[in-house]
Parts: sequence; C-alpha cells; structure tokens
Amino acid sequence: MLAAAFAAGNAAAATVGPDAATKSLARDIFRELVEIDTTDSAGSTTRAAEAMAHRLLEAGFPKADVAVLGPNERKGNMVVRYRGKAGSRLKPVLIIGHVDVVEARREDWSVDPFQFIERDGYYYGRGTQDMKSGDAIVVTNLIRLRREGFVPDRDIVFAMTADEEGGLSNGVDWLLRNHRELVDAEFALNPDSGGVVTDHGKPLTVEFEATEKLYADYQVLATNPGGHSSLPRPDNAIYHVADALARLERTPFPFELNNVTREYFTQMAGIESGAVAADIRAILAVPPDPQAIERLSKTPQYNSTMRTTCVATMLSAGHAPNALPQRAEANVNCRILPGHSQEEVRLDLVRLFDDPGLGVRYRSDSGTLSEHGSERKSMAPPPLRPDLMEALRGVSARLWPGVPVVPVMMVGASDSIYTMMAGIPSYGISGVAIDRDDVRMHGRDERLAVASYEQGVEFYYEFLKRLTAARR
Ligand SMILES: [Zn+2]
Repeated sequence: MLAAAFAAGNAAAATVGPDAATKSLARDIFRELVEIDTTDSAGSTTRAAEAMAHRLLEAGFPKADVAVLGPNERKGNMVVRYRGKAGSRLKPVLIIGHVDVVEARREDWSVDPFQFIERDGYYYGRGTQDMKSGDAIVVTNLIRLRREGFVPDRDIVFAMTADEEGGLSNGVDWLLRNHRELVDAEFALNPDSGGVVTDHGKPLTVEFEATEKLYADYQVLATNPGGHSSLPRPDNAIYHVADALARLERTPFPFELNNVTREYFTQMAGIESGAVAADIRAILAVPPDPQAIERLSKTPQYNSTMRTTCVATMLSAGHAPNALPQRAEANVNCRILPGHSQEEVRLDLVRLFDDPGLGVRYRSDSGTLSEHGSERKSMAPPPLRPDLMEALRGVSARLWPGVPVVPVMMVGASDSIYTMMAGIPSYGISGVAIDRDDVRMHGRDERLAVASYEQGVEFYYEFLKRLTAARR
C-alpha cells in the first residue's frame, strides 16, 4: 500500500542506540518477562508483576511507590510511580502495558514459546511483539532514568496489567475502578499500538494510535414453524437471514473522517503516489469525491479507516436436509467509528435489513444477548497534544530521519478503551519497528529483531525525557 517514496533510500536507518550496560539490562528484563508464562489458561501475571517489582525495588525505588495488586492470586498487576519534581502541580503521565499473552502451544511452534531464544538477530518467544517488549522497555528505562538522577516535571506512573488478550480480570479496568488514585493521570501512553512500520528493514512510517474503534457483535435471527421441505413456504428462515446479509455486503456504512483519520490521510497522500494519492486528496476535499471513496474502499485498511464496518462472521441454520429451517442465525461483527454507539449501529442494521421477521440483538463479550446495545458512544478522538507531538516528532527525527509521523485510528481495540472511558486521553506509542511482512502477534514463532528492541529502548528513553523535561 505504501508506494516508492522511500525507494531512494532517503530514510536512513537509525545509528543511535543505548549503551552496553542498558542493552544488557534490557535483554535480561525482556528474557525474564518472556520466560514467565502469563497466559490466561495456565500462567500468572502476578509472577511477572512480582518479578518487575523486585527489579524496581533493587534499583532503589521506594517501597511505597511500587505495588503488586489485583482481584485474585493469578491476575496481579504492578504499579510503579517515578516521582517528579517536588511540588509539581502537573498531573502524572500514565503508561499502561498488558503483560498477559495469547495462548501458545509448544507443538504449534518450532521453538519453546516460553523460552527466550536469540537467533539470527531476533528474539523469539511469546510476547516478543505483543507486548512484553513494551513492558521491558518501560521497566528498563525507569531504572535507567533513576540511575541517572533524572527528575521529570511530573510523576510517571507505569501500570503493567493482566487480561488484555482475554480472561475476566482486565487489569486496567480493575485498577481504575479500585485504585483510581494510583493510576490517575492527565493522559496515558500505551505501547501496545503505534510503532515503526518497516519494509525489509527500511522505515516507512512512524505510527501512533490516537483513537480506536468500538467493538460490537450482533445476532441476526430468523425463526418460524418450519415444515416439510416438499412444501416450501415464503417465510424460509435461511432466506431471511441470507437476504439481510446480502444487503449488508452491498451497503457500506457512510464515509466519515475525524481529526485523526483526516490527518492520517493527509500524511498518506504524501506517502502514496499516482492514482492512489490523487484519490486520497479527492476524499479530503469538501465535498469528498464519491468515486474516489469507492476506489479507496477496495483497500481494506483504507476502507476500515473511512467508515464503520460490519461483516458477517458466523452462520448457522436448519436442523435436517428434508425440513424447512425453523431457525437461521448469523453473527455480524462491527467496528464502530468514534462518536457512534452500539445501539445506534444496531438500529442502522434494523433499518438496512428492513425485515420485521428478523431479530437483531446485541451480543456482549460474554455471549449474553440483549434487545438493545449500549447507548454509550465510543470516545471522540482526543486532541493531538502539542507537548506529546513535539516529543514524538523530535525523537523520531533523530532515530528515523525523514520518516513521517502518522496518527492512526486502530481498527481493532486495546486497553486504551478503559483509560479513555475514564476520561484519560490515551495514545498508542511504541517506538518498536516491525516489518510489515513479519507481524507475528498472536501467531507462531513470534519474534522481534534485536535491533528493533534496542531502538525501542532508546526511543522511550528519549521520548519520556523530552515529554517530561522540566520547563523553566
Ligand atoms: Zn497487545
């Protein structure tokens, strides 16, 4: 999708990195985290939380500023406070990082997923991309900054948490509900998204997540008395659902940009070339060009960025080959643009299907069905804070000179939804480079280039320093 803008090699690779002692500390911490199983099925985030708390205490953090806490024995979270300038009136900056990982079975992998292996310039292990790298980077830098005697202009709080990938004990949610005072902040950073997109090692964009979509599932259901299949009747349940899904496929949700996606496309217009760049400029125009919208909609990433999407993901119907179906059911999965609610989209689907014989119900994460979805709108994108943008652009220019910094709307979802709902503007910033052909999150043989990891360490070190440098 990214065109030849960088073909001339004008995006020089980074030549700056951490010192040898920091590299070794960073590797040790990363190894320790990867080798602690934090899956929901058999692992424990408490063990990881305690291991990191231990390291921070050893490095001299006061006992009162390091806590391990959670709803039960296996789902512990770690919260550490790095003290800012005495008497500072600024509210803290919070960093959130989930430490749980997706399940990984030994037989699916070519190596042991819970053994930290360095091979051919990569670190292998579950969580190397998602997101123990991010956790290790933050812990390393808090220790490093403390050793240097750095005093930020405000407290920096890091919450390393449970159950982002699954499970019933989401740590960010739990901390906000039960210990708000520990994690309260002016804004939050989440290294779970954002990062440097590279192509065969060459950096293309430095992305940061400035907003994300809202997740929702809906059950589409038709039922009737059925009967013998030799006597077809006009109210066949399968046809009702099939017709609704066909309408859904033909009828995309309306085009809509927000401050984040508008900025994203503005940047992409400069990165893409030819007809695609022209189409991007045409959708940014007022009014936007409908034909350009249609052409760009063929690229999934652009399509999902321009509109709410709903797609059929599961289907089941009928009970015998020679009987009229008494029941047909589909799951429709929606990713909703900021500013719209689950109930609003449910009503959109009802209007689109235009079939009183169909039920459209909201299905919660736990599978409970309800007649209505929540009226809660997903959060409007937070403003692009000048201090944050300045720090991000400054460090990026040093580490990845000439590479554009691009805000993105995550079309999936992360723990930032909890901090955003709690009124804490949240931004996904990682500084870790992953090749667009080497995204292995949740997959087998997950790995991260050693050089990417070390650059991520350097990135967060400089980024936090710039962001919290005491101003006169
Ligand atoms: Zn993640």
